Formats: sequence, structure tokens, C-alpha cells
Amino acid sequence: AIALSDVDLSLGSGAARVHILKKVGLSVLAGETVSLVGPSGSGKSTLLMTMAGLERIDSGRLTVAGVDLGTLNEDGLARFRGAHVGIIFQSFHLIPNMTALENVAVPLELAGKRDAFERAREELQLVGLGHRVDHYPTALSGGEQQRVAIARALVARPAILFADEPTGNLDETTGRQIADLLFQTASERGMTLVLVTHDLALADRCDRVVRIHSGIIDPLAETSHRRSAAE
Ligand code: ATP
Ligand code: MG
Repeated sequence: AIALSDVDLSLGSGAARVHILKKVGLSVLAGETVSLVGPSGSGKSTLLMTMAGLERIDSGRLTVAGVDLGTLNEDGLARFRGAHVGIIFQSFHLIPNMTALENVAVPLELAGKRDAFERAREELQLVGLGHRVDHYPTALSGGEQQRVAIARALVARPAILFADEPTGNLDETTGRQIADLLFQTASERGMTLVLVTHDLALADRCDRVVRIHSGIIDPLAETSHRRSAAE
């Protein structure tokens, strides 16, 4: 589960310092799928990366998977990420001089797992890329690179997956396949999924749609698709 209350966050320094998240309050239940939508520059990526433990908040309270992120230093945050979260970045962020297999093995190697390459190979098979394990990112199509990024985010079996525009760079058919893969995996593994998207059809597939505007979440604009809420 994820809980934010009164979270403020600024980025940059000096004259370029920008107050991005303003008194953000949000809670996401374990196993829930939530989409985050809003205009470009509204703070979607920043909010997602903050929940993933990649940004420090200025004030407020942020608890993820039972961990109060405000109490952690950089090392603590890195350990938190390794233990609890998978992250799919807006631009895939694959390591260019590593093969698909090596990219996917990174989180397991960082965690000191001995079977990192075997598990990475299995995860690549699950995302349909078993035939591309030795390819470098530049030799993969956009959809294939996205699958590698997904395999890397999932390989350590995180409880929570954060995905920033997971279909943003893909054509419609590939985008739908990637979305199917994400929702299917989330449901099979009981994973919490928080995704950012401009695609309202994709957003609507989530249990809940959260809207953000200029760093402010509008609680009244929230759409719920949860069956429990409809009953
Ligand atoms: P998009 O849909 O275009 O990806 P977004 O909603 O994800 O937009 P963010 O990337 O979260 O937006 O950025 C929110 C605001 O914060 C933007 O106005 C951006 O210019 C600003 N910003 C982001 N990173 C920094 C930084 N490191 N320093 C200063 N300002 C920043
Ligand atoms: Mg963004």
C-alpha cells in the first residue's frame, strides 16, 4: 500500500528551483491498479518517482509498503527500492552497452542473487523476448526495448510496479500488448500497479483514475472503476 499526506516537493536549485508537488494526498491499496493522468508538466513523473523512492520530499508524509520514506537516507532509499518496487521509466533507460539479458539481471545482481541470469532469462521469456536475450538495446525495436524494461522492473518480484507512460512510445497494437502484459502480470502476482499515461483508454483499464493539475490532486475528479465501489 502507498500513502501520501500533505506532500510537498521542489526540484532544482537557485533560480531554477520549482515547487512541483503541492500538499499531495493519495492512498493506493495493495493490489490496486491506479492511473495518474494530467497535462504535460503537471508533475505526474515527479509524483511517480517520489512514490518509487527516487526523490526526497520537502515536507509531509510518504509511506510505501510499510516504510516511512522520510526517515531513510540515500542508502536506505536504494535498499527500499531494491526490496519493494519496480520502475519503468518514460524513456526506457536501458543500459546501452549491456545485452537484454544483462540489463534484466541488474536488479538481481545488485541484490547479490546467484541465479540472476537464469531468472533474467525466465523473465525475458515471460515478456515474449526469449529469442532476443543477447541483443543490445540499439538492435531492438521500441516495443522490444519496452519489454526489456518491463522484464527488468519485474524480475525481482516487486510488490509495487511504477510505470511512466509504458505505452507512450509504441504504436497502438504494441501498446495494447504491453498494457495486457502489465495488467496480466499485476493480477497474477497480486502486484500494485501505478501508471502514468496520456492514453485515457489505458487509464480507464485501471481500478481508479487520479487526476493531477499543476502539482495538485483533485480528489473530486477521481474516477473509480472498482467493483466494490460500484456495489
Ligand atoms: P509529461 O507529461 O510532459 O511527462 P509530467 O506531468 O510528467 O509531464 P514532470 O516531469 O513531473 O511532469 O515535471 C513537472 C514540472 O516540474 C515541470 O514543469 C518540469 O519543468 C519541472 N521539473 C521537473 N524536473 C525538474 C528539475 N530537476 N528541476 C526543476 N524543475 C523540474
Ligand atoms: Mg512525465
